[in-house]
Amino acid sequence: MIATLSMGCTLGEKAAILRFIEGHGLRLHVGEAGAVTVVSIIGDPEPGIGESIAALPGVESVSLDAPRYPFVAREARTEPSTVKVRDVVIGGKGVVVIAGPCSVESEDQLLTIARSVAKEGAVLLRGGAFKPRTSPYSFQGMGERGLELLAVARAETGLGVVSEVVAPEDIPLMNGHVDMLQVGSRNMQNFRLLSAVGEQPNPVLLKRGLMSTIEEMLLAAEYIVGAGNPRVVLCERGIRSFETSTRGTLDISAVPVLKERSHLPVIVDPSHAAGKRSLVPSLSAAGVAAGADGLLIEVHDRPDEALSDGPQSLTLEGFTATMETVAKIAGALDRPLIRL
Ligand code: PEP
Ligand code: MN
Repeated sequence: MIATLSMGCTLGEKAAILRFIEGHGLRLHVGEAGAVTVVSIIGDPEPGIGESIAALPGVESVSLDAPRYPFVAREARTEPSTVKVRDVVIGGKGVVVIAGPCSVESEDQLLTIARSVAKEGAVLLRGGAFKPRTSPYSFQGMGERGLELLAVARAETGLGVVSEVVAPEDIPLMNGHVDMLQVGSRNMQNFRLLSAVGEQPNPVLLKRGLMSTIEEMLLAAEYIVGAGNPRVVLCERGIRSFETSTRGTLDISAVPVLKERSHLPVIVDPSHAAGKRSLVPSLSAAGVAAGADGLLIEVHDRPDEALSDGPQSLTLEGFTATMETVAKIAGALDRPLIRL
């Protein structure tokens, strides 16, 4: 149920309306759609309650439609939201580049890459310590040691760090070392994990499930924000399609669609969509051109020896060239690349 308040609704009337709804055991979310206040009513309303709410002073109308994702819907806020990761604001005027290896492999590897991407204008460092791999025989990540190395790289470069969380019980350990928790594609509908990252304070990078619709992604984000954590960034990373030339099909339309339906920032991961290094510059440019607030790019100093996702990882030189292209596209849209 959704109640729209009248333009002339006083603060006292609004408070009484909210009290009435909560008094009936219902949860609510108050949003702004332009100058109008919209109250999404969540829960199982008893029969007739809609009429009672409609009769309250200050209520303009009541619709019986169930709000699908009241916390993340565009109508929930007057302005799009921004998410701060350390000093970096995602979702503001500037475009943010997050870069680094697929997996943390060694101190030398991570520091070489971190120094290089920082110099070229990345403002956050990515690197997996717990890797969700398709095969149980593939490298599974360095675990806690990988997190420690991310913290070392952060101390040296000043880059905030992003790393994937695969299990709720790892969250306290991860939060001791990282600044943003990534929920990966394979876990986008791991609802226990979504609730768990919603109940902790660090920002969350939510990647689209490789076989998930945009609606399912927004509902996944709703789990996190509804559980109490508003700091969520959505990431389009390619979906499965009949096309086999690329690892995924980058759903470029998802960027403007997500922006239309939600207030959350949206970034694009060209690396997992492409699966192939040579395509990453084009997909990066396309993501920014479509209105993404940032990019998540895999970079490796020796991609041929990488323990995961080498074929799609840019070389250090490739990253430099990609940043030049991306800066031009962002500039053309009057959205400068954010620098530290
Ligand atoms: C990754 O970022 O390395 C990763 C595993 O991504 P995804 O979950 O999108 O496959
Ligand atoms: Mn990867």
